[in-house]
Parts: sequence; structure tokens; C-alpha cells
Amino acid sequence: MRHLYDMRFDEMKAWLKVLQQPGYRAQQVFQWLYQWRVTDVVQMSNLPQKLRDELQQNTRMTTSHVVTRQVSRLDGTTKFLLGWPDGVTVETVLMRHDYGNSVCVSSQVGCKMGCNFCASTLGGMIRQMSAGEMVEQVLYSQRLLDGQDERVSSVVLMGSGEPMDNYDEVMRFIDIVNDPNGLNIGQRHVTVSTVGVVPGIVRLADEGRPVTLAVSLHAPTDELRSSMMPINKAYPISELLQACRYYVHKTGRRISFEYALIGGKNDALQEARKLAELLHDLPAHVNLIPVNFVPERSYKRTPPDRVQEFLNELKAMGINATIRREMGHDISAACGQLRAEQAKRL
Ligand code: SAH
Repeated sequence: MRHLYDMRFDEMKAWLKVLQQPGYRAQQVFQWLYQWRVTDVVQMSNLPQKLRDELQQNTRMTTSHVVTRQVSRLDGTTKFLLGWPDGVTVETVLMRHDYGNSVCVSSQVGCKMGCNFCASTLGGMIRQMSAGEMVEQVLYSQRLLDGQDERVSSVVLMGSGEPMDNYDEVMRFIDIVNDPNGLNIGQRHVTVSTVGVVPGIVRLADEGRPVTLAVSLHAPTDELRSSMMPINKAYPISELLQACRYYVHKTGRRISFEYALIGGKNDALQEARKLAELLHDLPAHVNLIPVNFVPERSYKRTPPDRVQEFLNELKAMGINATIRREMGHDISAACGQLRAEQAKRL
């Protein structure tokens, strides 16, 4: 069984050619899948009946179902918990901004990176998400927006999982949503967030993909970072930043650095100064995120005053930085929370 959402445009073309279809068929199928967003092959009315039968028998479209859906009354953020036939669940979130709609996509079920402030890694990595399964996540949001005549304009790979640990499928997913015959979401509007897997960053740089790279830094010294993120033992900060410089050199793009502020852990002004020193020679943007509460972890949030002071310190040292606006606070929209809650109820 082929998963239709797993195929890039060129793959769809090659596959339909084997089925002795004319060249324009791939465009027709892509249109049905991504522009009309039908849910069944029967609806693809301009395809010959024989091909429709063939697709019906040998392919699948949506493989997941909505387990729960929550809509924030504060800002319209919509969180879906999706389930697959093998029993796994992942979260995907639609966020409404003034500048457009973005979807947060999960690239793996769970995660093996072990960051000690994160809910997604609590049960380890269960399995990879295929490209098609990531496409399905985007389509749930897009179908919801269809009723309002709006589109998904950006995608962030900031759900559960480490995108660099599922590199090929993540890139295939990006190619599919980027295709002008499909959802046509520009690569610049796709953010790949990584815990700091250096070979992945280098590969992304070598491929010259104009995606936005976000690096989860969270600490300015190896000692502190290693105590929060095991990956730092494999790729310490100096190696990570070297890879970041290489990425900037190859792509000309600036990098986003994520910094989750944890009370008493990494939020001293001295850390802000060290962070500024680390990043002074990079075109960088720092995203400060007051850490989201995870019941299994004992972390405290940095109080708002200190968040502001931390920001001011960075800015005073010439670093471009902002505080991440919280979305969907009333629906536990922080990644991993819904899935973790669901698992506890079972
Ligand atoms: N594996 C990727 C993407 C995962 S999550 C990565 O590490 O970048 C997206 C972001 O949320 C990461 O920066 C991650 O460190 C951060 N994050 C995880 N748990 C968090 C929490 N409890 N509060 C705030 N941010 C958190």
C-alpha cells in the first residue's frame, strides 16, 4: 500500500508513469490532495475510473484520526491529538498570528534526546513519523482553516521528536508541503528546530536548503548545558556553534536560538552576558521562552521581571532577542503535555 501523502511530486509522476498515465496526471492528483484537499479517491472526478479503482485498492490517504481537539478561548490556538492504527499518538498545534497561520508538527512519536525539562522525551522514542504522517498533521489545520478562507503559511518542526534524527523523512515532508503544485509553503517559512545534532546541521548547510534553522541552546556553558541536555556531551557548544557558523556561511541565513528560561537554573544575568558573548559573531536571533511547566519535572519558571531583565541584558550587548509569546495557555498547548496527560489516563 502506498501512502499518497508520502510522495513528492516527482515521485508521484514516476509512479503514475509506471501505471501508464499521461504526464499531467501527477498534477491532477496533487491538486486533489493539496488544493481541493479531498479525503477520498472517489472524489477525484477528473481521473479515469480505472485509475481511481487502482488508487482505491493500492493506496491510502489519511491514516490518522483525531483523538481530541482543543481550542483556546484566549487566542484560537487549536491543538490536535492524533492517533494512528498502531496505537501511537502525536500532537500538532495550529497557531493564529497577525502575520499568518503556523502549524507545529511532530517529527517523531516521543523522543530519545532526554532533555530534562521536556515532556516529549519522558517515555523515550517510540517510532519515527513518515513524511506522509507529517503532511497529515498540516492538513488537519488546513482543513479547519478552509472554512475561513485562510491558509497555513508556515510550519515549525517543534512538536515531539528531533527532526535531525529523522532527517530523510523530514526533508521529504518539507519538499511535499513546499511543492507549488501542492500546499506551496515556502521553505523559508519552514523552521527546523534541533537539539543540536551537528552532522544534521552540516548536512542541511551542504544541501543549501533555505529553511529557517532553530537551535535549542538553553545554556551558555558546557557544564550547565550538559546538565540539562545529554546531547551536549556528544556535541559541545563550541562544535555546535562552529556548525552554526558553517550554516550561515553556506546559506546566508540567520539562525534562531531557543533559550527556555528556568528559574534559578539558567536565568542569571551572568548567563545572559555569557550567551551574548557566545553569539556576538553570528547573525542570530534569540527566542526567550519562560519554561513550560511539566508535572514530572521540578522546574520553576523564571518570573516575568527577570525574563525582561535577561532580554534587556542581551539587547544591551547587541543581541537580537525577543520573548516568545505564549499561545494556548488555557489548553496546555506546550508540546508533549496533551500526549502525556492522555497516556496517564489510559
Ligand atoms: N527536538 C527539537 C524540537 C523539539 S521542541 C529541539 O530540541 O529543538 C521545540 C522547543 O521546545 C525546543 O527548543 C525545546 O527545547 C523546547 N522545550 C521543550 N520542553 C520545554 C518546556 N518544558 N518549556 C519550554 N520549552 C521547552
